[in-house]
Amino acid sequence: MSERLINLQPSCAGDYDPSSLSVPEALRRIDIEVQPLSGYQRLALRDALGRILAEDIESPVDVPAHTNSAMDGYALRGADLPETGVRDFRLVGAALAGSPYGGALSEGECIRIMTGAVVPDGSDTVVMQEHVEVHGEEIRIGPGNRLGQNVRAAGEDIPRGETVLRSGKRISPAELGLLASLGVAEVQVFRRPRVAFFSTGDELRSLGEPLREGDIYDSNRYTLFGMLTRLGAEVIDMGVVCDRREDLHAAFRQAAEVADAVITSGGVSVGEADFVKETLGSLGKVNFWKIAMKPGRPLAFGRVGGALFFGLPGNPVSVMVTFYEFVQPALRRLMGATEHEAVTIRVRSASRLRKRPGRVEYQRGVLRRSDDGEFEVGVTGAQGSGILSSVSIANCFIVLPQDSGDVEPGAFVEVQPFEGLV
Ligand code: AMP
Ligand code: MG
Repeated sequence: MSERLINLQPSCAGDYDPSSLSVPEALRRIDIEVQPLSGYQRLALRDALGRILAEDIESPVDVPAHTNSAMDGYALRGADLPETGVRDFRLVGAALAGSPYGGALSEGECIRIMTGAVVPDGSDTVVMQEHVEVHGEEIRIGPGNRLGQNVRAAGEDIPRGETVLRSGKRISPAELGLLASLGVAEVQVFRRPRVAFFSTGDELRSLGEPLREGDIYDSNRYTLFGMLTRLGAEVIDMGVVCDRREDLHAAFRQAAEVADAVITSGGVSVGEADFVKETLGSLGKVNFWKIAMKPGRPLAFGRVGGALFFGLPGNPVSVMVTFYEFVQPALRRLMGATEHEAVTIRVRSASRLRKRPGRVEYQRGVLRRSDDGEFEVGVTGAQGSGILSSVSIANCFIVLPQDSGDVEPGAFVEVQPFEGLV
């Protein structure tokens, strides 16, 4: 009731609501509820791409495995190098990558050596080919070289037994290569979380169904499908559930039985929330929060049966923003990942941004290079929480802090780019 009154008396002071929760506080409360899954899988290396490592990996070998040359040139004993004047060395053989010399070098001898080839016993130094004169089987070397130069010692990059990757690391192409370089063919990863989701609302139709007056197509199940799949979850799409107590109850019960996490959209705003609250009363423990953010003010979080539960608002943009800001970090933690900081950068705003103090705003922006070569961000136009095309046009969220008011063109703002490089 008091909510209604506040809305009927808009003030110029801003969007402050003393009963609302700050974004960091909501994140903190979610974080303490979430523990990593305890199921694991052993996978062949390639199949582990995108998965979260569930073991520490110690290097079974020295990297590099052998002391080898960093240059194309001549391997010799560093003690033989001339301090002044020149010295001639006898060329006794060659070592190529994959084809070692085999013997040992004595005083005054050298071999031709290529990058990556094993530095033979007795030698410890490589002189670059550009710094020698070749006279048949004799090599002339002048001063200025240093004992030990151009040689990579065995174990210099990674000594055998050293921990190279820790549990919780997401396996990207670099980790595939790194593990392959160590000869690791299989790794243990966390199992993928099963995430069930459904939409609530009598107005929602699934694709293929005709629209009656006032109906809309359900788009949230598609954005959720996309975001969850990208994240690496196993998705269970439970369709649209009508705003009827028995249907909701059955859907929640069924979801909680099969899933590690349950996500719904719609039905958590004032007025609708009571209904969902009542339904959930007997099934779990759920808090209904007002978060000091825009879009996405209402959010429900808790547990249904043994599953984590996120009740997202119905508006399509709110679903995406609350997913990325709250659900994704929580699911990453559930998946066993230990790194989940979203990257933010500070750039100048090219646009004037309208903003009332009191809530963090996630405006949709386009990050680009301006004429002077510096990055700047522009806003995508209308910022209504139902305008999904604003997210499609955007390549970042412009995150305006709770206390900020309007932003003038040229002022610095914080942005979260959508794309990560790897
Ligand atoms: P609600 O949070 O249920 O009050 O919904 C807020 C707004 O989002 C309403 O205009 C709904 O019609 C719309 N909406 C809710 N769920 C969906 C959905 N799954 N797909 C598209 N729009 C939705
Ligand atoms: Mg609804």
